Amino acid sequence: MTGIQQTVPDNAQAGRRFRAYSAKHLDELTARAGLDDAARLAVRAVATVLPFRTNAYVVDELIDWDAAPDDPIYRLVFPQADMLPHADVQTISSLLAQDAPSGQIRAAAHEVRMRLNPHPAGQLALNIPDLASEPLPGVQHKYPETVLIFPKQGQTCHAYCTYCFRWAQFVDEPDLKMATSSVDRVLDYLRQHPEVTSVLITGGDPMIMGAPVLRRYIEPLLDPSLAHIESIRIGSKSLAYWPQRFVTDPDADDTLRLFEEVQQTGRTMAFMAHFSHPRELQPALVAEAVRRIRDTGTVIRTQAPLIRSINDDPLTWADMWREQTRTGMIPYYMFVERDTGPQDYFAVPLARAHEVFRDAYASVSGLCRTVRGPSMSATPGKIGVDGVVEIAGQKVFVLHLIQARDPRLVGKPFFAQFDPGAVWLSDLRPAFADRFPFDPEDDLPPIWDPPELVPAG
Ligand code: SF4
Repeated sequence: MTGIQQTVPDNAQAGRRFRAYSAKHLDELTARAGLDDAARLAVRAVATVLPFRTNAYVVDELIDWDAAPDDPIYRLVFPQADMLPHADVQTISSLLAQDAPSGQIRAAAHEVRMRLNPHPAGQLALNIPDLASEPLPGVQHKYPETVLIFPKQGQTCHAYCTYCFRWAQFVDEPDLKMATSSVDRVLDYLRQHPEVTSVLITGGDPMIMGAPVLRRYIEPLLDPSLAHIESIRIGSKSLAYWPQRFVTDPDADDTLRLFEEVQQTGRTMAFMAHFSHPRELQPALVAEAVRRIRDTGTVIRTQAPLIRSINDDPLTWADMWREQTRTGMIPYYMFVERDTGPQDYFAVPLARAHEVFRDAYASVSGLCRTVRGPSMSATPGKIGVDGVVEIAGQKVFVLHLIQARDPRLVGKPFFAQFDPGAVWLSDLRPAFADRFPFDPEDDLPPIWDPPELVPAG
């Protein structure tokens, strides 16, 4: 092994064992934020519907308890009473107050969840591929060149974000979960699909898996029979929620060795780091974890959604992008909050989202302007909101497909009628056309044929 040096950074939590807090700790923790009895009960009611989990590092190092419950990191991990419709919170609160049977509370929570669009963007209906005419659960293949793998052991996180679009993975609803432990079937599928050049291992958070389990998923991808796989990506919020994973955890070095092995096969190892707020970058432990990951040759790209009351101002994003770039990470995406879970509570209108992006983008150096956004990960693909302009007397949104289920549409600009309240693609109406370029005349096929590139001349 090269360059992986053990260090013990100056941080109170460095070297401590991971300690999770779950719903049973909620009352005690929300009391610390100064919530009264009724407010704490309402928060518990929300946490019967949506997942709650945090850990001692987030609680002790990241949250500013003097500012709670308005503190952005507090809001990032603690459910809010008004995240769900008032009537639902009232119903479940009164069941909790009466100490109703757990089955009755679970049934009420289930009923609310089913109204929250648990699998947005056709995740289950359109993106699960077939192998030998059988569905391949725990795998998504939406864009020809990229396959997503959801390892069974990676379907939890070091803490849960209140706005999580994958919330259905973490609640007591087995029918809603996407996961695979069948590495062999995934490999068979990849062998049959030479158009796939990139594999994204995602969750939950794959870094919740110990090094030996992570190796079971990554090492087989390095087989020479899969030479068409050019990059392996890991989507993770562990740098924000548990940076110890790369510095002082017992398997930190083994994990980094695995990253290094990927690089040594000539593939790119990419760590897609989720940071929601600049505070998450402040502990010295994070810079140390970033340094150790980068020392393996792994590239770190950063991404997060734009969330009302957590990071919906340009200064927050500019600070994040600057600090990320300073420590050698590459700003990659600002996403729009997706159409699932408590979207109504966290959504920022698209017009405002574009202003936040533009103002932040305008204030940072060219090195930070690797970032794209604001982008909606919707059924037809990733749609970037490029701005608001007036054309022929009509105010319109200018948009384009950054990524598309139909590759012929990638990069294609299009227009939508301006709507100051629109928060998602489904709120938009075409401008200067009677349909959007991706609106199908028939049903969407699962994956469209990629265009073939031929050498010029
Ligand atoms: S870390 Fe990612 S998957 Fe986990 S709760 Fe947050 S947004 Fe969801």
